[in-house]
Amino acid sequence: MKAQSTNTTTHSESSVQNNFIRQIIAEDLKTNKNEGQVVTRFPPEPNGYLHIGHAKSICLNFGIASEHKGGQCYLRFDDTNPSKEDIEYVESIKADVHWLGYDWENRLRHSSDYFERLHEYAIALIKMGKAYVCSLTTEQIKEHRGTLREPGKNSPYRERTIEENLELFARMKAGEFADGEQVLRAKIDMASPNINMRDPIIYRVKNVAHHKTGNKWCIYPMYDFTHCLSDAIEGITHSLCTLEFEDHRPLYDWTLNTLNTQSHPQQIEFARLSLKYMVMSKRKLYELVENNHVSGWDDPRMPTLVGMRRRGYTPEAIRDFCDCIGITKNDTQIEMGVLENCIRSDLDPKTARVMAVLNPLRVVIENYPEDQVEYFDAPYHPKEANMGSRQVPFSQVLYIEQDDFLEEPPKKFFRLAPGREVRLRYAYFLTCQSVVKDDKGEIVELRCTYDPETRGGSNPPDGRKVKGTIHWVSEAHAVTAEIRLYDRLFNQPNPGAGGTDFTKVLNPNSVEILTNSKVEPSLANAQASNRYQFERQGYFCVDNVDSSEKALVFNRIVTLRDSWAKIEKGNMNKKS
Ligand code: ATP
Ligand code: MG
Repeated sequence: MKAQSTNTTTHSESSVQNNFIRQIIAEDLKTNKNEGQVVTRFPPEPNGYLHIGHAKSICLNFGIASEHKGGQCYLRFDDTNPSKEDIEYVESIKADVHWLGYDWENRLRHSSDYFERLHEYAIALIKMGKAYVCSLTTEQIKEHRGTLREPGKNSPYRERTIEENLELFARMKAGEFADGEQVLRAKIDMASPNINMRDPIIYRVKNVAHHKTGNKWCIYPMYDFTHCLSDAIEGITHSLCTLEFEDHRPLYDWTLNTLNTQSHPQQIEFARLSLKYMVMSKRKLYELVENNHVSGWDDPRMPTLVGMRRRGYTPEAIRDFCDCIGITKNDTQIEMGVLENCIRSDLDPKTARVMAVLNPLRVVIENYPEDQVEYFDAPYHPKEANMGSRQVPFSQVLYIEQDDFLEEPPKKFFRLAPGREVRLRYAYFLTCQSVVKDDKGEIVELRCTYDPETRGGSNPPDGRKVKGTIHWVSEAHAVTAEIRLYDRLFNQPNPGAGGTDFTKVLNPNSVEILTNSKVEPSLANAQASNRYQFERQGYFCVDNVDSSEKALVFNRIVTLRDSWAKIEKGNMNKKS
């Protein structure tokens, strides 16, 4: 059986980056290490929603497995901290992995599936004299640990006999102790330069129910002990993790060597993904949600996969992005523009073009018959004829974009202005004759005329040309919609750098909500999650939470051009 991405995967295998991890694996296959097997895993902790950083790990692990004959990838929930975990997260993580286009088939596991075996391994360590029950308080353990410069001090309980340790560990398991009263520690080296090797805690008392095992256990294994053994139990060949685990690798190897496990996976570290103008740690995302800085985990401004999905991002684009940024050992911050370019390239060939006026300005065509309606055939895509076309109604009163009119236009403004002529996309040439204002001086509507000889937007017989083409919708046929324009969530490229408060640099204008936008009638039946290109405006997606047939809501996925490059340049100019 093969762990494979489903047929929604579009990237060809040849386009996949040949990164250093793939090179290591290729080398291992050459030497027939692991009997030619490639087994990986994606090990999320079910304590939050997945974000695009996790997508990098998912694409790497599932991707690598799918590239090799017989390759396998496990989805393993690292559920060793019952107080922070929840079934809600488990379900959302599964949905997100599927949405990205990957399938674990029959390889869904939980670390808690192995609690029994992990407990046996712990007892084995005790019997070898390699683990002991320590009765120091949490504070004291911290004090004894030493610092980066100073070695730690041995615990006074370090020399307990094997019998004593077995008995105490059994009493820990039997529920005789309060949280933190006793811990089981590996007996390694309190003077090790690597703090992770200074008799790390491998089991602790936690009198809490677990979402999988209920009240069966009141002792829970620690991450470092659990992770390597779970990898070994599953026969993982390459255990790919992020750089912060580099210092844990000696403990990973010590545990597997000491217990002499059947298999000994190779841990390989790579750099985490971080995006400019974004935060990525679950703790920070949790804080954004808890303190209502965003509307939820699926707020379209969040870097979570549920948020991106709601915003309208496609799994193909996210996979392309993960391919494009590659896998390295260097921590770098990726520009938002890279992600946005992937979205644009994915959406461009497959998204219908339609007309929507975000900020409407009323236009009355004085020489057009009041009760006449004409229909113009408008293809959904300029290049993809198979996407078909629709009939766009045209009538005496239209809406155009407020931005497409200026009373006093500067030189290079080729759109509408008093006395100027433009082309209405698919329809006619239009000339602005006068501007109607209310008593406050605000523009209420434009009075215009059209040229009947330009039907379909063609040039008139006199050879007159216009430079500007603008989009429009017919007032009588338009559908009112709410449109949400999203921008970066933070004002700073590196929010929270140096321990500063990241919530202080939230962008107050990260969402602009337009409640009176007018979209063409073909969108009346737009379904949740449908995506469109609103001509000249960007890519938009029907919101999958708030939109309904009665009240359409669109999210802007991305603008048509990169506005980030400009922002970056602006910042650089400010600095210099
Ligand atoms: P966070 O720091 O965001 O809370 P985490 O590492 O605690 O993340 P886990 O659920 O433990 O989250 O992560 C599951 C897997 O995803 C791990 O193997 C982890 O290394 C990987 N991962 C998490 N964040 C990133 C990231 N930003 N880039 C790449 N991989 C990541
Ligand atoms: Mg983690």
